[in-house]
Amino acid sequence: MNEDEVYCVKCNVRLVALKTTFTYLKHEFYVDLPRCPSCGQVYVSEELAKGKMTEVEMSLEDK
Ligand SMILES: [Zn+2]
Repeated sequence: MNEDEVYCVKCNVRLVALKTTFTYLKHEFYVDLPRCPSCGQVYVSEELAKGKMTEVEMSLEDK
């Protein structure tokens, strides 16, 4: 799926990638997630979330 072509179902506007903070394993991370510029709804697919979690776990293991 192309993240650039995700639309908000409420506003029907294209989501834009914005830096979003999330916390995982007591660590804070900044990731670019597709977010609606109108209502602020963040779109995270299960696939994307898994990919981000894998990235985070790998970065933690490097430390
Ligand atoms: Zn919206």
